[in-house]
Amino acid sequence: MKISVVGTGYVGLVTGVCLSEIGHDVTCIDTDISKIDKMRQGQSPIYEPGLEELMVKNINEGRLHFTNVHKEGFENSEVVFIAVGTPQLPNGSANLQYIEAVAEQIAQEVTTDVVVVTKSTVPVGTNYRVEKIIRENLKNDVKISIASNPEFLREGSAVQDTFNGDRIVIGTDNAETAAILEEMYKPLNIPVFKTDISSSEMIKYASNAFLATKISFINEISNICEKLGANVEDVANGMGYDQRIGRNFLNAGIGYGGSCFPKDTHALVQIAGGVEHDFELLRSVIQVNNNQQRLMVDKIVSRFGNLEGKVISLLGLAFKPNTDDMREAASIVLAKELVAQGAKVKAYDPIAMANAKALLPEAVTYEKSVSGVLQNADAAVIITEWDEFKNMNLKDLHKVMNEAVVFDGRNCFDEKTVTEAGIEYHSVGRKSIYTSKSLINS
Ligand code: NAD
Repeated sequence: MKISVVGTGYVGLVTGVCLSEIGHDVTCIDTDISKIDKMRQGQSPIYEPGLEELMVKNINEGRLHFTNVHKEGFENSEVVFIAVGTPQLPNGSANLQYIEAVAEQIAQEVTTDVVVVTKSTVPVGTNYRVEKIIRENLKNDVKISIASNPEFLREGSAVQDTFNGDRIVIGTDNAETAAILEEMYKPLNIPVFKTDISSSEMIKYASNAFLATKISFINEISNICEKLGANVEDVANGMGYDQRIGRNFLNAGIGYGGSCFPKDTHALVQIAGGVEHDFELLRSVIQVNNNQQRLMVDKIVSRFGNLEGKVISLLGLAFKPNTDDMREAASIVLAKELVAQGAKVKAYDPIAMANAKALLPEAVTYEKSVSGVLQNADAAVIITEWDEFKNMNLKDLHKVMNEAVVFDGRNCFDEKTVTEAGIEYHSVGRKSIYTSKSLINS
């Protein structure tokens, strides 16, 4: 099938590459010419495990193409995916300007019958808006049908998720359109759930809001555990055995970030508000998350008193491991707060440092390795649970740090490992571990 994908970000590029891998002829379109140039040379503009290899393979096999000219990309396409960003507006709602611009481009440039599929996360009603824009501006005499097909991939395992998704949701009002998309996805062998357009749009927001709720829930439990001397890891494990609950998304930490949960929860509060429903529960989920991101700073301040001149190392900057995405990462909040309190902040992330530099305070300095970032530090803060940090030998901290004090925002280590290493350790929802020396100092 001939397919075009508009927008080559984390969703569009992965979708385009994976559809070419299952045999379709795919053209990816982006307005960013520097991205197009890179991709034509077989380089992925984003870090996503396995993506670049698959991209090169399908370019070489002639099934994957890139262009910044929409007309060229749409030529003879049977399906056009819209995968552009829907970032958050200052009032919390989704910014649909990029979606609407693509709808106008489709209206102007398509020359054959086409199914227009919105993969971007969009508020209920947006697909109909897309259809209206296209119909009102349609230049050629072609047949257009629309479908909602929200995306559930996770950054860091996006390729894997695309080939092994739990379900593909297709929202259409037209059986023929649904059949075209089902046929297109058939080689993936993933269950297809078909519904109407509005329900499909809502499934995406409801799913992300539910997952965010699970995270904020366990974070609240962790805060209570800390005060009561319980261990949140054991609590989550014990809860997770219950199949009605499940263990996923019950990891206490310093809150969720990234390009989806923060903006999608805000957008859903706005969507609810639009029909005069106050989504109280979700507003609390957001507030709990905001508080949680600041929690580690409070712990560091209460440990040291004054942070003026203290050297603090940030281990990990990306919002989660295996991605270079810095959007809404907890590291931004932490770095700003620590710098504001007078700390000297050093940072290291295996992949995300280039993107981080644009978002973190200028005062932050960057190191090329874990040992570099820990050198002469008064405290280390684990923000992202990269394997590199989870696998480090905690005993080595004594050799490089001024004092081996670790604030672990992702609960990477257990009590036994920490005690054996003889370091001072503060995590989330578990009791702090002190050494005899640190007890005197703290
Ligand atoms: P992104 O910001 O990484 O990429 C968007 C791309 O669209 C950019 O490369 C931009 O240059 C391009 N673009 C903008 N306007 C264009 C136009 N008129 N023509 C061609 N290209 C254009 O975005 P993303 O993270 O891939 O997210 C895309 C959508 O998918 C969003 O709605 C998001 O909520 C949703 N989503 C994202 C994820 C994720 O993990 N990132 C997961 C599921 C759903």
